[in-house]
Amino acid sequence: MTAVPHHTSYQGDPGYRYCPRCGGALVGKKLKEAEPDRLCCDQCGFVFYLDPKLAAGVVATVDDHLVLLRRAIEPAYGAWVFPGGFVDRGEHPEEAAVREAFEEANVRVRLDGMLGIYSHPPGSHVVLVVYHGVVVGGELAAMDESLEAGLFPPTELPWDELAFATTRQAVSDYVRRVGLEPPSDAVPMKPWGLFSP
Ligand SMILES: [Zn+2]
Repeated sequence: MTAVPHHTSYQGDPGYRYCPRCGGALVGKKLKEAEPDRLCCDQCGFVFYLDPKLAAGVVATVDDHLVLLRRAIEPAYGAWVFPGGFVDRGEHPEEAAVREAFEEANVRVRLDGMLGIYSHPPGSHVVLVVYHGVVVGGELAAMDESLEAGLFPPTELPWDELAFATTRQAVSDYVRRVGLEPPSDAVPMKPWGLFSP
């Protein structure tokens, strides 16, 4: 198994300089030996943890065809994704996935399992939880943030036009689940994928 680099190297610099609570200066401090430096306020002691951003999505199907949307926003304008977006504080990822499917594709989805958790490239601040779901209502349409909505059989997916590495990984996992093999060049390396094939 490949060694997993310590996450210290991936903290990056988000450019935050002032405390959101009191306006004091944020300075990097080592709070625990084994952990990365934290942004701490030198006035009130507030610690600004650089948490991952949690997103949720759903590979939803209608008669085994996948619901995909062509993005009308950057990044990856014009590329295809499944419905998904950031989870609001207090919202369960399942609720977020169902909400996004309705907001973006105008379909009611019943989730029936989890496909996986994706974060790519290593050090990305986004962690994406992806479910599989079945469309149980609504009328498929391109809503918010989409140019076009489409239904694709798993044998005719637009692999070269999928928006993100995480999109390709999750769609690949779905395709394998239905007994097919994704094109070999479609799937980026999964450095954290302990459970990947
Ligand atoms: Zn402060």
